[in-house]
Amino acid sequence: MAIDFRLTAHQRELQLQSRNFARQVLSETAKAEILATPEERFAATKPAYEAMIAAGFLRKCIPVSAGGENTSLVETAIMVEELYAVNASLTLTLMGTVLGLLPLLIGGTKEQRSRLLVPFLKQAGAPLASFCATEPGGSANPASAPPGEGVRTTARLLGDRWTIDGRKSWVSSATGWDRKGADLLSVLCRTAPDVPPERGISVLVVERPTPGIVLERAIDSVGHRAHLLPCFQLEGVSVPRDNVLGSLGGGFALTAACFTGAAALVGIFAVALMRAAFDFALNFARNEKRGGILPVIEHQAVGYALADAKMAIEATRYLCWRACHGVDFQSPGADELAIEAKVYGSETAVRVLTDLMRVVGVESYDHMFPLGRLLQDALALPVFGGGNIGVRRRQLHGILKRPEYDPLMASSEAET
Ligand SMILES: Cc1cc2nc3c(=O)[nH]c(=O)nc-3n(C[C@H](O)[C@H](O)[C@H](O)COP(=O)(O)OP(=O)(O)OC[C@H]3O[C@@H](n4cnc5c(N)ncnc54)[C@H](O)[C@@H]3O)c2cc1C
Repeated sequence: MAIDFRLTAHQRELQLQSRNFARQVLSETAKAEILATPEERFAATKPAYEAMIAAGFLRKCIPVSAGGENTSLVETAIMVEELYAVNASLTLTLMGTVLGLLPLLIGGTKEQRSRLLVPFLKQAGAPLASFCATEPGGSANPASAPPGEGVRTTARLLGDRWTIDGRKSWVSSATGWDRKGADLLSVLCRTAPDVPPERGISVLVVERPTPGIVLERAIDSVGHRAHLLPCFQLEGVSVPRDNVLGSLGGGFALTAACFTGAAALVGIFAVALMRAAFDFALNFARNEKRGGILPVIEHQAVGYALADAKMAIEATRYLCWRACHGVDFQSPGADELAIEAKVYGSETAVRVLTDLMRVVGVESYDHMFPLGRLLQDALALPVFGGGNIGVRRRQLHGILKRPEYDPLMASSEAET
């Protein structure tokens, strides 16, 4: 009886609570996406983000062991599907904050967690955290050996303080609501320039308020129009010596650990966008005749296209749930499954969304309807959270090349 995809009573309650919240609160904020500048659009989402925090959605992503309410990544996936299906921008602001906290949750000491998590555990305000990895000039090769540069942001230890200098880009919410910085930044830095990257890169935590965070520009992104993606400088940002998360020099491994669960959730983002598009296309096909005699769903080609889309959605959701379950149980196949969920889910979403636009036809090209926006959001999925070509396939390739790799490992783990 171990394979059981039914939801527990708690998971079903979480699903319905998230669905209702998304419909009542997050759908309203979709209007923010039409404002003129990225910063205006992001600012307009603040009241809904505060409502998300007040409703406990951030606490629901922080493990019970750290003072939150989360007991599994599967739970997070169930919740996130509901939120992201209605508002990708705001849900990414929430999940960007969770990603920003992951180095602390995975690598932080008990003292660091109890000190730094406080604002994120309260059901008040609009706390933001960011994982600052990506840099202008590329981040697909953080562990590159010289003459490659990998991570270019540096942290130098002078006395009992680190001084961080560098530039970061595409980092969710990093400059915060007021350009002065998110409440907590986990910054990937080169802490020892002369040793191999596996031992010379660390994650340092920067707490607000700290001078030296300078916004260069808020990127006008193709999708996630009301989400803040700044390009910014860290100019002589000074933090205490003990603000290293995990071991000194262990930042590369800590980053990899954080991005495993995140990969499985990108697959769930894909499910959410496909599901929202499917709802619209199915409703359209059932009700529109487009000048013919019968609703368009009666045409076989349309029915088959909808059937193909629904199969893709179901297949992606169960792959992602399995990947999340694998991460929860630290299964031997967890890394493989999480990458597969990310790559397969993200690329399936882009295909399914364009297929569903063809089902709806020309009306899908009108921004009054949701399909164009959903496709714009979906285009991020193959290129973020580690681009599918530059990062994720390379990681999967690395797993397949291992001499001990067993292709059946991911599907043959027994219950213990
Ligand atoms: C909405 C959104 C939110 C984001 N949030 C964050 C965030 O919170 N924090 C953060 O740090 N980043 C964030 N990013 C950036 C994101 O995580 C990227 O996936 C990551 O920076 C890697 O990008 P890349 O693979 O395109 O790398 P790049 O280094 O820009 O590489 C570009 C391309 O070069 C090729 N390439 C380079 N090296 C190789 C190689 N070794 N093998 C094969 N091909 C190669 C590939 O085609 C690759 O796609 C976000 C991006 C978006 C769009």
